[in-house]
Amino acid sequence: ADDVTLDPWGSSTVADYRKLFEEFGIESFDEVLPEVPNPHYLMRRGVIFGHRDYPRVLDGFEPGDAAVLSGFMPTGDPHIGHKLVFDEIIWHQQQGADAYGLIADLEAHSARGLDWDKIDEHARDYLLSLLALGFDPEEGELYRQSTNRTVQDLAFELGIETNISELQSIYGFDGETDVSHMQSVVTQMADILYPQLEEPKPTVIPVGPDQDPHVRLARDLAARMRSFKVTEAYASFETNAAEHALIEDAYEALGGESTSDSDPIRCVAAAEWLSEHHDAPNVEESLRAAGKEPLRPRVRFLDRNATEEAFTALIEAIDGEKRVYEGHIDVFDSSREDAAALAREIEVEHEGYGFYPPSSIYHRFMTGLTGGKMSSSIPSSHISLLDDPEDGYEKVKAATTGGRETAERQRELGGEADKCPVYELYAYLLAADDDEFAKMVYDECVGGERLCGDCKEQAAQLMQEFLREHQEKREEAKAVLESLDLDLGL
Ligand code: SF4
Repeated sequence: ADDVTLDPWGSSTVADYRKLFEEFGIESFDEVLPEVPNPHYLMRRGVIFGHRDYPRVLDGFEPGDAAVLSGFMPTGDPHIGHKLVFDEIIWHQQQGADAYGLIADLEAHSARGLDWDKIDEHARDYLLSLLALGFDPEEGELYRQSTNRTVQDLAFELGIETNISELQSIYGFDGETDVSHMQSVVTQMADILYPQLEEPKPTVIPVGPDQDPHVRLARDLAARMRSFKVTEAYASFETNAAEHALIEDAYEALGGESTSDSDPIRCVAAAEWLSEHHDAPNVEESLRAAGKEPLRPRVRFLDRNATEEAFTALIEAIDGEKRVYEGHIDVFDSSREDAAALAREIEVEHEGYGFYPPSSIYHRFMTGLTGGKMSSSIPSSHISLLDDPEDGYEKVKAATTGGRETAERQRELGGEADKCPVYELYAYLLAADDDEFAKMVYDECVGGERLCGDCKEQAAQLMQEFLREHQEKREEAKAVLESLDLDLGL
């Protein structure tokens, strides 16, 4: 299909991941992989295939310098697809990130209409699995939306910056959409920004690509919620005579002192004035609107669509003792080079929240065991983390494969591991950290040495073993969960 629709509440599959790169600006993970220290196997095997702004997080792999957060809508049992997200949170926690796992109970209640008893039950199950897989609750934080007052307050503030037409265009909400559903959206925005509330820090949100609309809105809101006071602006603005005269006028109109060429030009103030008076989004446009052709427009201010680089640079430059001008920059829009140059020359003071736009990483959806998308609502398509190990074994044995019609053909042509849900089980879960093993399965399959019967038997046994161990660990995690006092109806 030409249209890729991303609907966080729908059941759309994203058939062509490349389209996401083109249409939504998700970047390929391959390019950042070499920068990742000690990458998780899901990264190494391309299961995590895309990102937004992930390098920002990589810079902060020291305790307290970055955060990871993801949420779970407790609408059913946690299954092996959810395990990908659990693993991603835990891995980032092990790398030193502050880790957050949240239960999106308001969303489950409003968007899916689940009743509270069911929500409590599923919430417990999600959290037990997260703990059993290695989440450290002493170092990280687990919470549910409905009882986190801080998140609620932040959601309210974020709601001020969000309007209905925007939700319509992002999520397709219409006149029938209930208010609670909208509220659950701003709550989710608050979740995403919550790790930065005390102190702004790069935060990564591991999600499936269908959740990207949330990430985009959160990045937008982060930009709207951050504001800066300019404390000093040294011009690197290479003005020509016409520009300079205009900026002078602007500055004087603001009640500032006139500046000379050699003085620092209070270009931010001037730029703001120019924008206002010429109804243009930035200096360059202002100058054009005023009939002046900017020759070297090196910096552009006051555009709400800031680039992340500009903001990183700006935040790094914050050093606000002296207050020369209490101007107000909303957001920068500047090229990477400009931003770096600018950051050295401008001093600003934090006002407001100072959120970094959250980063994200995207993992592939697992194929259902019976083909199609793995779905919580189709038991035979997935393996629940709560499945009886024996049932898990049987489900793998019954799975669709990428095998040929006959053993003979398979030996001749090799299997189609790339289309095989069983191979996915190996790559996403069963081979765990053992790349050699995953590769061996792949090579033997496509080389025709591996036949599906034996291959499934091996996978089924590994699955059974995994479930048995996981469920033992879940039992052990119960005491921990109880001690966390999460109001889960325990
Ligand atoms: Fe899938 Fe294994 Fe058959 Fe290959 S041999 S197609 S990996 S089940």
